[in-house]
Amino acid sequence: MSLADVTANLRAPVETATDNKPIVKVHAVEWAKIMAGEPVEINPSIGHGYKVMSVKEWAARWKPNEAYPECLVCGSHNTKEHHFTQTWCRGKKKWESETLCLDCHSFTKRSYCDPDFKTPEDFEKERWQSMREEFWDTEPHYGGDRVIWDALRAAAEADLRTAKLILQSAGIVVAAPDMTTYYDERGRMYVLPKYVLSLPTNILRTSSIMGSRKSANAVELPQLTASAL
Ligand SMILES: [Zn+2]
Repeated sequence: MSLADVTANLRAPVETATDNKPIVKVHAVEWAKIMAGEPVEINPSIGHGYKVMSVKEWAARWKPNEAYPECLVCGSHNTKEHHFTQTWCRGKKKWESETLCLDCHSFTKRSYCDPDFKTPEDFEKERWQSMREEFWDTEPHYGGDRVIWDALRAAAEADLRTAKLILQSAGIVVAAPDMTTYYDERGRMYVLPKYVLSLPTNILRTSSIMGSRKSANAVELPQLTASAL
């Protein structure tokens, strides 16, 4: 992330906090040793073994935080950043930074999160959820029995065992091994898109719910679609 990305278009306040030790545990352990004058491991890229280091020496390879150089304890700009993480999802950002003040040895933590930031996983889940809602809201208007549609929805949103019971008690026959095609007792067909059955990663697992117990009979059923009735 460039400096501009970190500071541009902030839509919420940058949260700040200060501490006398780093937040990350392994860093805090090492920091305690530095403070106690005990040897710490030399960075493998420049040597090996252990060494007693000054704070300045320990932080020699860290870079300054150009966007937020100020130590929030003493106001010094003589700081180094040793921890920075960021996540972007569809233009929304979230980041976290921690700087060490070389003058007062305090740590300043800053974090930022767009108000509507979502992880890629959350974003996908919500997208699929809204596609499902839309399907259940519109599809029954094109045909079929409302009671059957309600049962199909309840089954699609239930655990496997419950789904099976719901379908059985409504007299619904599963006509495709992938769980997308059903018939009611009057021979009307109902087709469900896979996305209403489960999230994409679960589709394969869910498709084995009821196997194809009655799928052999399906071909004998009248080939009527719900929308044809
Ligand atoms: Zn300071």
